Amino acid sequence: MPLSPALSAPQKALLKLGLGRDIDLALHLPLRYEDETRIVPLRGAREGDTVQIEGTVTVCEVAFRPRRQLVVTLQDDQGDSCVLRFFSFYPSQQKALAVGTRIRARGELKGGFLGWQMVHPVCRPAEGELPQALTPVYPTSASLPQNYLRKAVLGALKRADLSPTLPAAVDQEMGLQPGWDLRRSLGFLHQPTPEVSLAALEDRSHPAWQRLKAEELLAQQLSQLQSKRERAALSAPALRAAAAGSLPEQLLAALPFQLTRAQHRVSEEIARDLGRELPMHRLLQGDVGSGKTIVAALAAAIAIEAGWQCALMAPTEILAQQHFGKLIGWLEPLLAPRGQRVAWLTGSQKKKERAEMLQLVASGEAALVIGTHAVIQEQVQFRNLALAIIDEQHRFGVAQRLALRSKLVDALREPHLLMMTATPIPRTLAMSYYADLDVSTIDELPPGRTPVVTKLVADSRRDEVIQRIRGQLAQGRQVYWVCPLIEESEALDLTNATATHEALGAALPGVMIGLLHSRMPPAEKRAVMALFTSGRMGVLVSTTVIEVGVDVPNASLMVIEHAERFGLSQLHQLRGRVGRGAAASACVLLYFSGEGGRLGETARSRLRAMVETSDGFEIARRDLEIRGPGEFLGARQSGAALLRFADLATDTDLLEAARRLAPVLLDRHRELAERHVARWLGGRQDYLKA
Ligand code: ADP
Ligand code: MG
Repeated sequence: MPLSPALSAPQKALLKLGLGRDIDLALHLPLRYEDETRIVPLRGAREGDTVQIEGTVTVCEVAFRPRRQLVVTLQDDQGDSCVLRFFSFYPSQQKALAVGTRIRARGELKGGFLGWQMVHPVCRPAEGELPQALTPVYPTSASLPQNYLRKAVLGALKRADLSPTLPAAVDQEMGLQPGWDLRRSLGFLHQPTPEVSLAALEDRSHPAWQRLKAEELLAQQLSQLQSKRERAALSAPALRAAAAGSLPEQLLAALPFQLTRAQHRVSEEIARDLGRELPMHRLLQGDVGSGKTIVAALAAAIAIEAGWQCALMAPTEILAQQHFGKLIGWLEPLLAPRGQRVAWLTGSQKKKERAEMLQLVASGEAALVIGTHAVIQEQVQFRNLALAIIDEQHRFGVAQRLALRSKLVDALREPHLLMMTATPIPRTLAMSYYADLDVSTIDELPPGRTPVVTKLVADSRRDEVIQRIRGQLAQGRQVYWVCPLIEESEALDLTNATATHEALGAALPGVMIGLLHSRMPPAEKRAVMALFTSGRMGVLVSTTVIEVGVDVPNASLMVIEHAERFGLSQLHQLRGRVGRGAAASACVLLYFSGEGGRLGETARSRLRAMVETSDGFEIARRDLEIRGPGEFLGARQSGAALLRFADLATDTDLLEAARRLAPVLLDRHRELAERHVARWLGGRQDYLKA
């Protein structure tokens, strides 16, 4: 039986919003402010302004036309009047607005030939002084009224420990204005005086905002640094790079190509990490098609040669299959003579097969374990896992990344971790969330790629696109046609792809046209792919299954239908399927502008970005601008809004200063630093560490 008294509905709502501690409430800043400090005379007021007026009620009656409403006329001290209308109202309201009462009404002023009006203004009796400060409006939920929240925040502000945690020198280094400490800044932001520039509050350039942003960024940098140091206290098995004739060498010798300089460089960076007793925590980034898979295979080969197991994961089953098909092709023939195997683990596996695989993993017979996040589930017991590789790491949730880090080798050792991404992390993000991460970049594509020309074409010009396909086919080239993504329903995806497949068949007689979608049996998929790869199939119509992994250098044209529905990095990945051979290649983004003939703003900026650049880094930067950092961080799944005040895109100076100062603080003022992190991050530290 709980001994504490039951919580009221607003108290529960507070907890639900993460506002349990006084400090959480103190850091819960207003969305905007309302100015109730002034009374505006109607004479000289402007239409459309939200204002507070004061006067005496001269009329209060219920009218029935055009519909039932309470109509109140308010006359201000200059003798001008304004009609207040309420379409839903209580008898108590009607009473409070009786003729002769003096009230204050706040709302948006509308003009009109009947004179001034306000619909559903907020009214209160005109008694007492006007407030001295702007009235804050907080982000809240339905069960938590503004007034309750305002009082809770003010109470918390008085109680919370807001004593400085940053030495004065730090304030100075970060360019913070003297006098604006945390207490004053928060007090001000919750109740700004009316003469403040609303612009400075809105664009967050006010010294009070600077203080909050700086402290937040420092908290985040400190927390990252702490976890980096904690990690340094753990060790990992040192996987020494190999002697002549070892697995990595055999692998290199068997490849049909030479590594690029960039691939060499990053492979060496990784090998160096693996050779240490410090757990590697490295992100390998490289554009689509830059050749990350072979780098991963080399790392795996080092681990296996040293007598350990390696696990490789992708976010979905299709991705896992496609990403690693090649890798298995390279490694399996080399492992077989050594009596070692590759195990495959996914959620959709039959029980019996899964049990067999788990057995292979536990006994160590499987030197390499590939799959989805099924690879890190609790039941999976490795014999000796020394290296975990995650592809498309940003698509994994935080919880999954944490689970992976719990697969310890033994009490004191954890596996090395290599993460890979084709969505390069913008510099600001790399410096902040990924401060606890070493980054290797493949900044060069394998030779023989040609740049892809990207064109935006309205769907009404579909015929021209088909003409273009004919042209490519006549030159012996091949074409991808990617069908729209319909978020809610895979079944609809399929209907659409089937219809397109038929329509293209009718328009291009005599051409072999294939259809590929995620619900086809694997054998059928393989058969279709084999026909396309061999060059006999001219056009491949597909849902987004081909997003990754498909490699047909003769394909020179990609059409993406309903391109406006795709995310930017997905479009970029898709486009990476063409331009892999010597032929000039193109990508046509077919868009539907909908009823009003206009694309939404974000869709338009995505498509524009695709036309303007094919540089993965630039694409990632714009994606960050368009979508915000959540997507890069996998924060969508965690639901944790990570940075509330600072904006990584614009607060670069503060971020750089915080990054520079964090180690100094942690070394020289450990206690303060720890208090600072606890105050700012509370229970959310784990998320930041993942
Ligand atoms: P991604 O970085 O997108 O995962 P992949 O590893 O799938 O790229 O490589 C894309 C294609 O380039 C594959 O067909 C791969 O075999 C090929 N490739 C990788 N490295 C080289 C290289 N150094 N020279 C030629 N082709 C390469
Ligand atoms: Mg890949």
